Amino acid sequence: MSIAINADLCKGCKACMAVCPGSLIKETTEGKAYMKYPKDCWGCASCVKECHFGAITFFLGADIGGMGSKLTVDSKKDRLIWNIARRDDTKEQIVINTKESNKY
Ligand code: SF4
Ligand code: SF4
Repeated sequence: MSIAINADLCKGCKACMAVCPGSLIKETTEGKAYMKYPKDCWGCASCVKECHFGAITFFLGADIGGMGSKLTVDSKKDRLIWNIARRDDTKEQIVINTKESNKY
């Protein structure tokens, strides 16, 4: 399980680096984030959730039913939109109201 960072979309805000519990994401000399230790990623998805620029793709492994699907997250005000793209080109979207997510 790991992530990929799209350098073209990365704004260098460092939010992903700050939240990664294993300090696996580092900064290039151009100020962009890159995944330095992909094999050590345990898939907590914190970095994906924190990136507000859609620069991080999370690979959903077969062990959690993803079978190679990719997950990206868009942030819109009080909404987190989780986009799942499967290998067969089908897509799924899960919308979370962040104001309600800790309610229960
Ligand atoms: S959170 Fe996103 S935009 Fe910010 S440094 Fe990480 S990848 Fe780049
Ligand atoms: S998914 Fe979690 S462990 Fe993996 S790079 Fe992102 S924050 Fe770090």
